Amino acid sequence: MSKVKVAINGYGTIGKRVADAVTMQDDMKIVGVSKTRPNYEAFVAHDRGYDVYTPMDKLESMKKAGIPAAGSIEDMIEKADLIIDCTPGGVGEKNKALYEKAGVKAIWQGGEDHELAGFSFNSQANYSEALGRDFVRVVSCNTTGLCRVIYPLDQEYGVKKVRVTLMRRAADPNDIKTGPINAIIPNPVKLPSHHGPDVKSVMPNINITSTAVKLPTTLMHLHTLNIELEKDCTSNEIKELFSKQSRIRFVGQGISSTAEIMELAKDIGRPRGDMWENCIWDESISMYEGELYFFQAIHQESDVIPENIDAIRAMMELESDGSKSIKKTNKAMGI
Ligand code: NAD
Repeated sequence: MSKVKVAINGYGTIGKRVADAVTMQDDMKIVGVSKTRPNYEAFVAHDRGYDVYTPMDKLESMKKAGIPAAGSIEDMIEKADLIIDCTPGGVGEKNKALYEKAGVKAIWQGGEDHELAGFSFNSQANYSEALGRDFVRVVSCNTTGLCRVIYPLDQEYGVKKVRVTLMRRAADPNDIKTGPINAIIPNPVKLPSHHGPDVKSVMPNINITSTAVKLPTTLMHLHTLNIELEKDCTSNEIKELFSKQSRIRFVGQGISSTAEIMELAKDIGRPRGDMWENCIWDESISMYEGELYFFQAIHQESDVIPENIDAIRAMMELESDGSKSIKKTNKAMGI
């Protein structure tokens, strides 16, 4: 069977990671990536063998900078079966008309509203509902991290109520425009935060409320979760349930911070030092007065990458069984 042709519109933090993850699969391939400027990322994309496309009015400046652009973004879209839109939040919305005109499928990221695609995706929670869809939104890094723990808990014990505080990194490590900050910012001040409703875009039945603050770090988000379950259980049973989830990793072994998790990712040879799994401190998993508590850390730049791969497979109907797609993606990426 011929490989599904995927193009990346917006080769930045998320786009370059999705491109490399697609390349690792045997049922899909990259036919182009787009860059709006001839910066170092454009050179790396070119060196990696990706065809680099650019807006029509930038073709000349790309060429002058030494990058032989393969054509315009519209040309790239024509070549693809499916576009992964990884442009900055709010920009992706403007591209919808282009995708509709070309008759290609598209995946947007968590910076866009649910309504843009009309369907919000998490591999474990709703893979089968994405089968054959034209438009899908892969939810944000925080929402992905929350779905990965709430879904199996709901399946096994029934989730009565989730309360979560998100301690968010202020900016990505390469971000020289917005961070780091020297402050703790309640964000948003108006409570509850939008993160709870975003989980409901994937699992509408979940009672969840969230608060969020921004912290002076670029290394991961950290969640404090407090969950009431329908059925009684012990902390050991929760540990056992989480230990069976392939995109959850327990951290302990002297790891007491997000900085050490990022070092671990480099030590185990992860590309770009990425940590694709939720990192839960198994020692933190506690039942107190019948409620579950734990800490998890989420690598904002990379946890959504395997989910994008599964979303492609569902939309292109390459695999009808979500658990098989998850297994295939994990194996190819080394999760
Ligand atoms: P980014 O700024 O790192 O990359 C965006 C890329 O798109 C850049 O290369 C930029 O030059 C390019 N671009 C801008 N306008 C464009 C246009 N009109 N056409 C084509 N390319 C254009 O952004 P990012 O962090 O990768 O975020 C992308 C999406 O992923 C957003 O929706 C964001 O909310 C979501 N997301 C980001 C993170 C994260 O922590 N970085 C995590 C999960 C989801």
